[in-house]
Amino acid sequence: MTVRDDSDAGAAAVGDGRWLLLWDIDGTLLLRASGSHATAVWDALCDVHGIEPATLRNGSGRGGAGKTDGQIAREILEALGVPAAAIDEQADAVRARTCERYRPEDLTAHVSPGIDGLLAELHARGDVVQSLVTGNFEPVARRKLDAAGLGRWFDPRWGGGFGSDHEQRERLPAIARARAGAALRPDGAPWPAERTVVIGDTPRDIACARHDGVAVIAVATGPHAADDLRAADAVAGDAAELRAAVAALLDGGAPIGRDGRQTIPDDPQETTA
Ligand SMILES: [Mg+2]
Repeated sequence: MTVRDDSDAGAAAVGDGRWLLLWDIDGTLLLRASGSHATAVWDALCDVHGIEPATLRNGSGRGGAGKTDGQIAREILEALGVPAAAIDEQADAVRARTCERYRPEDLTAHVSPGIDGLLAELHARGDVVQSLVTGNFEPVARRKLDAAGLGRWFDPRWGGGFGSDHEQRERLPAIARARAGAALRPDGAPWPAERTVVIGDTPRDIACARHDGVAVIAVATGPHAADDLRAADAVAGDAAELRAAVAALLDGGAPIGRDGRQTIPDDPQETTA
């Protein structure tokens, strides 16, 4: 695929009626690509808190889908009996050390099938700005996407909301809207909630969108089946269904909100552990 290096495309898309898409990474853009990321968090906890590595390799952080990196680290430490004050005091150090430690392998094989083409199509529309809402610390997120070959679709100038911004995912969409508005809108005001869509794979993605009053499309490509995601405005089982759901929402006609959600039948075979 030929990719235009037109980093001003997002700037050209500024104006009334433009959409801000806030993509989750793990389970949405990438599948089963978080092994080296989890290892980096564990290494950081060992380095900063003096945790014995063997203590951490037995499922630490399991069930963390949709949580922020800082929240996952906090919960691991709490389970090990580390006092809250020490967790707070060292949170910045854990974040910095995680980012230093994270050196992903080639992740191109972990791109969710069809996602690269969908990102390219949406980029080409001209009325879409693509950014991120992810629990990953920002340097981890950028490096992970670069290792997967998707970094080119997410211009850092348009900001995003990351685990490094706040431990609570619910806070991240508003941060992302503020940054996109500051970067791209003439008045610098936050991107309108009614022109913003979160795309993610867990109930926590849905909750963060609801907290900020923005629409949300869920994908059943992560650990959650479509049934778990019915609170979203639409649920898609794969990239083709996601393409249809995004088009329906952006091109009008698809009602959004809890009372008007549409559910697109998913393909259970797409569900991954
Ligand atoms: Mg996810």
